[in-house]
Amino acid sequence: MAATVQKKKLRYKNLGKSGLRVSNIALGTWVTFGAQITDEMAEEILTLAYESGINYFDTAEVYAAGKAETVLGKVLKKKAWRRSSYIVSTKIYWGGKAETEKGLSRKHIIEGLKASLERLQLEYVDVVFANKPDPHTPMEEIVRAFTHCINQGWAMYWGTSRWSPMEIMEAYSVARQFNLIPPIAEQAEYHLFQREKVELQMPELYHKIGIGTITWSPLACGILSGKYDDGVPIYSRAAMKGYGWLKEKILSEEGRRQQAKLREVALIADKLNCSLSQLAIAWCLKNENVQCVMLGASSVDQLYENIQALQYVPKLTPVLMGELDKILGNKPAVIRREPPQR
Ligand code: NAP
Repeated sequence: MAATVQKKKLRYKNLGKSGLRVSNIALGTWVTFGAQITDEMAEEILTLAYESGINYFDTAEVYAAGKAETVLGKVLKKKAWRRSSYIVSTKIYWGGKAETEKGLSRKHIIEGLKASLERLQLEYVDVVFANKPDPHTPMEEIVRAFTHCINQGWAMYWGTSRWSPMEIMEAYSVARQFNLIPPIAEQAEYHLFQREKVELQMPELYHKIGIGTITWSPLACGILSGKYDDGVPIYSRAAMKGYGWLKEKILSEEGRRQQAKLREVALIADKLNCSLSQLAIAWCLKNENVQCVMLGASSVDQLYENIQALQYVPKLTPVLMGELDKILGNKPAVIRREPPQR
């Protein structure tokens, strides 16, 4: 197995304005654990992550229909690392086929989290996330249910994922109004081709209500590694059963335009002497408003390569960041509000 890497270059940050200290890189289990890779590979990947200083592992009840949690739990048990030395989060929304097994009702949040804990063989998760908003459940019920989970000791904190700033604000207001526990962080998509929410909206939410930002899919599901420039390799996420949507996205007009831009981005990676994946991940890590970038990997080599992105963060100078903005052409514009007329 590859040696551990870059321990000293990982940073630990408070998640939002909570006291929870997360490594600025986390390892996620979507697509890979319990499905694409063997349990042995999952163990090797998790071991490299932990031994490199990554202290945060993310999963969800829906990943591989619960198998991702089962595999993560098995490996954690086998490794017997001190429970206090790492953070586990899971996400609740899609738990099963029945109408009552999905969404953010009090019933599903409680039953879903208890089932996740059983699969993970853990007494508690550190953070339980709402995997998406649920417009059919009153916000007060959602906030009360997550508060209950925390008060029962099944989770230390709760957070949101794919929620709009309005929804997050509403959860915060409800928590304040009824003396309940507010969410501490939002999981949001962030990469070279997806910027607006994380760059424009999350910093304001952090300053106003202390919500932290965890980002996902830094390689846009692998697209930003450049591996799809020449079509879809057979051993890749886009070739997997059930990921036809990714293949379609890659082969679309927009996908082709993105590949052309990536060829230009690759020239900057060449200047830095790093891979395209490393540049894309370093670019996410460079954003000071992001506390944690969640990586995915289907092999130890990928994770090893990706963790080394850390060393390129200081090399991304303002000049290079400007060059990237120019190539991408998608830097979100700050809209300045005019002061009210008197
Ligand atoms: P990603 O970094 O965008 O994609 C990871 C995939 O890209 C790998 O599984 C691998 O797929 C490929 N890859 C990685 N490194 C590579 C390299 N160096 N060279 C070539 N290919 C490489 O991240 P993600 O897996 O989509 O997301 C990361 C985590 O974020 C997830 O595991 C999950 O925990 C979390 N997440 C959360 C949400 C949410 O709604 N909250 C949504 C999505 C993800 P192949 O080898 O199979 O091609």
